[in-house]
Amino acid sequence: MRKPVIAGNWKMYKTIAEAVATAGALARQVADVSHCEVVIAPPFTAIAAVAERLRDANVRVSSQDVAAEAKQGAFTGEVSAEMVLEAGARYCIVGHSERRQFYGETDESVARKIVAGLAAGLTPIVCVGETLAERDAGEAETVVGRQLRGAFSGLTASEVARTITAYEPVWAIGTGRTATPETAQQMHRFIRGVFAEAAGAETADGVRILYGGSVKPENAAELMAQPDIDGGLVGGASLEADSFAKIVRYQ
Ligand code: PEP
Repeated sequence: MRKPVIAGNWKMYKTIAEAVATAGALARQVADVSHCEVVIAPPFTAIAAVAERLRDANVRVSSQDVAAEAKQGAFTGEVSAEMVLEAGARYCIVGHSERRQFYGETDESVARKIVAGLAAGLTPIVCVGETLAERDAGEAETVVGRQLRGAFSGLTASEVARTITAYEPVWAIGTGRTATPETAQQMHRFIRGVFAEAAGAETADGVRILYGGSVKPENAAELMAQPDIDGGLVGGASLEADSFAKIVRYQ
């Protein structure tokens, strides 16, 4: 049985004080939730303070990115997986489309970041997804398949099992345009098939695949009802505790 994950990506929003306040409000609202794992990804600067605030809560913390280099070194501006772990995070988002689009993230760097995250003991949340032009050209599965093989090909089945994948069609991120549950389900089934080929049926059956792209309280339930959708990665609607808590309570 796959336990769903509802993760909030706060992007470059919130001061430390705002992040702690929102995390505290969220923790109060989801204190009784056990049907899913709840995760929030504040900016790096707020990870330690948010993790401290959530010490006794059932909400975990993620980073939004992590360095590809595993060891400390002369890598100005980078934050290693071990540093993120020390600050209190237990997950790390890697390969978000905004990092691919604006900061030169490639399948190769995503692969290295997954390895670094796993080595530190973090659970990587690996983002994949096609652009609108790629979907319109009928290449959505080709693109997502290439991203998955590029990111995961060096991993053993047991390492794959320790990761989470987030399917985030780029055309649905921050646009208010959500993939229909059927479109999302079709891609999630395809992704599980890629994992079955690469890591075997058992691993593929256990790996969690989240949907991301304009998830809101109004559409969460029908997305989560799809058989291969195991939760959500939520941007805009995770910034307010009330709306994120409603998504967490999609059932
Ligand atoms: C995201 O950035 O991961 C995301 C899914 O954003 P939004 O929910 O705002 O579309």
